[in-house]
Amino acid sequence: DKGHPMARTFSKSTKLDNVLYDVRGPVVQEAARMEAAGTHVLKLNIGNPAPFGFRTPDEVIYDMAQQLTESEGYSASKGLFSARKAIMQYAQIKGLPNVGIEDIYTGNGVSELINLSMSALLDNGDEVLLPSPDYPLWTACVTLAGGKPVHYVCDEQSDWYPDLEDMRSKITDRTKAIVIINPNNPTGALYPKEVLEEIVQIAREHQLIIFSDEIYDRLVMDGLEHTSIASLAPDLFCVTYSGLSKSHMIAGFRIGWMILSGNKALARDYIEGLDMLTNMRICSNVPAQAIVQTALGGHQSVKDYIVPGGRIYEQREYIYEALNSIPGITAVKPKAAFYIFPKIDTKRFHITDDEQFAVDLLHNEKLLIVQGTGFNWHAPDHFRVVYLPRVEVLKDAVGKMQHFFGYYRQ
Ligand code: PLP
Repeated sequence: DKGHPMARTFSKSTKLDNVLYDVRGPVVQEAARMEAAGTHVLKLNIGNPAPFGFRTPDEVIYDMAQQLTESEGYSASKGLFSARKAIMQYAQIKGLPNVGIEDIYTGNGVSELINLSMSALLDNGDEVLLPSPDYPLWTACVTLAGGKPVHYVCDEQSDWYPDLEDMRSKITDRTKAIVIINPNNPTGALYPKEVLEEIVQIAREHQLIIFSDEIYDRLVMDGLEHTSIASLAPDLFCVTYSGLSKSHMIAGFRIGWMILSGNKALARDYIEGLDMLTNMRICSNVPAQAIVQTALGGHQSVKDYIVPGGRIYEQREYIYEALNSIPGITAVKPKAAFYIFPKIDTKRFHITDDEQFAVDLLHNEKLLIVQGTGFNWHAPDHFRVVYLPRVEVLKDAVGKMQHFFGYYRQ
């Protein structure tokens, strides 16, 4: 090979240097390798309802089939009028102030819109307040956009509500926005109005944008009501995110939206940036936009799952009791979504690296969870369980955990 120049190799961009997205990270890849080798892995790692037997209402499938031939072309960048009108009505029902049709943007899932929102806003070094633990895409998108993620702690002792003192203490001259995830992934927390009002007050005092990820707003249990923080902040600029991935069990169709509300005059220039990026991606998946009106209208069949006797409710009851019965494991009862974020007693179990803990659980018990640090949690003492599988399957999983925590690193 003497005559050849040294082969040129290609590295990933340095923009990715600190980007972390472990929900589909190395442990999941290891699980995929084990499955490829023929090992059955019990997976409690991803919030994707369809593979666990949750079906979208038939009317949604029928509606999409009907509209498929009319959905072949691009739509307007922000989306189809019918979809945006239905989302606007939804925003009005939730009390979002000052929302017109031009304030609704559809996306290929909320994911695309989170990325777009951070890219359009942040200059290098701009700070965004994010929850810890968080849904890690938020932190990843802030980092990718050149911003600096700054985490405020959510307090397990108070039902995982944001620690408002901690939030206040982390604001600097560079802070541009507060992100909340309500209902929360990974904790299953639902924030009461009083807590939201205090967050609004903090944003008001420091002139911050509020970004609120509410993708689980229709999966709230125990007769509780979800409040959109934007409904409490008519004088601030807010962006609220939701979609059909979870409420309609169609995470694969890729349809979400964001809603601008409140004092939009404060963000005129930022909104130009949002529009620019929205135009550049042309439009979101049109067949999935076409079903939004049908999906949001009338009876929401997801409700049947979240009341006593419904699958998600009963699975929560089971997993909450079962995890808390394992010596050394405690968990706050989730009020919404389908996640629980148990704590590992580190006086009993000597875990210093929770990715290794997740790998050991996977290798030894063929059980896949996500380690807490994957959600930007600061200590190796939590993990997330997705309780979408049926109770029989969850029983099997808890049996494996009981066994594992009986011998692991005591
Ligand atoms: N936001 C939160 C809090 C989530 O948990 C998820 C998915 O798990 C998303 C956003 C992404 O959802 P989508 O399917 O709409 O991209």
